[in-house]
Amino acid sequence: MLRLACRIAWLPAILFLPLAVLAQERSWQEARSTHFKVFYKNATPAELEELTHKAEGCYDSIAEQFGFNRFNFWTWDNRARIYLYDSHDEYVQATRGYSWSGGQVMAGSKIIQSYVKAPGFLHSILPHELAHIIFMEMVGFNNPAVPLWLHEGVATYQEKNTYSSVKAELAAKMRKGEYLDLDALNRLDLRSADRDQVDLFYTESYTLVKFLISEFGKDFFVSFCRDLRDYRDLAGSLRRVYSFKSLRDFQEAWKKYILR
Ligand SMILES: [Zn+2]
Repeated sequence: MLRLACRIAWLPAILFLPLAVLAQERSWQEARSTHFKVFYKNATPAELEELTHKAEGCYDSIAEQFGFNRFNFWTWDNRARIYLYDSHDEYVQATRGYSWSGGQVMAGSKIIQSYVKAPGFLHSILPHELAHIIFMEMVGFNNPAVPLWLHEGVATYQEKNTYSSVKAELAAKMRKGEYLDLDALNRLDLRSADRDQVDLFYTESYTLVKFLISEFGKDFFVSFCRDLRDYRDLAGSLRRVYSFKSLRDFQEAWKKYILR
C-alpha cells in the first residue's frame, strides 16, 4: 500500500496548496527540531518526540547517502514542515488527497502532510517523502531530464524492508519477458495503470537505483545527481559518470545485474 501512498506534487500544487496550508497555520501548535517544524493539533509529547527523532535520523542518513550534507542545510526558516492532521478523514478532506494515501509531499515547499498514527508513516512514508525532497534539491526542481522512475527509485530505496527481496521475483518476470523496459517505464501512466503494473513500476524503479548504488558506490551516484543537475541530460550523465554508451547499454547492464 505504501508505494501508492506517495504523490509527488508537481507544479500546480507547488504553486497553490502551500498558501492554503499557511492560512491554517494559526490553528496549529508547533514543535521544532534541528531540521523540522511539526504542526499538530492533538498529538501527544511522546508521539512528537518519536516523530522528530525519526525525521532527524532519516534526514541524516539520506543526506549522508547522497552527499547532500556537503552543500545544503535545512535550518532556521529553511526547516521542512510536517503537518499532522488528527485523523485520516481530516487529512483527506484538508489535502484533497486520495483516500488510499497516508501522506503526501510538496517537494518545492518542503511540506509533508499526514495524520496521527498513519500506518507506516514513520518507517516508510516519511523516509520515502524526505528522499523525494532531498533528491529534488540535488537534481533541481522540474528538471525534465529526470524520469519518474528515477524519482521513485531514489524514494523507494529508503524503504529497504519493503523492497529487500524483489530481485529474484523480477528476474523470474524478466526471463518470461514480463517486465517493462525503460521506454515502457517512461510511457506508463500510473493513474490509469492496473495494480500489477504499478507494483512492477515501483519494483523496477527501486532495482534501477539499487543497481547504480550497489554496483558503483555512493560517490558515483552523487556525481550522477550533480551531473543531471548541471547538464539536464540523462543519457549524457549515464555516459559521463558511469560510461554507459547509451540508455540501451544502461538497460542491458541492469538486466544482467537482475538476472545473474
Ligand atoms: Zn514517491
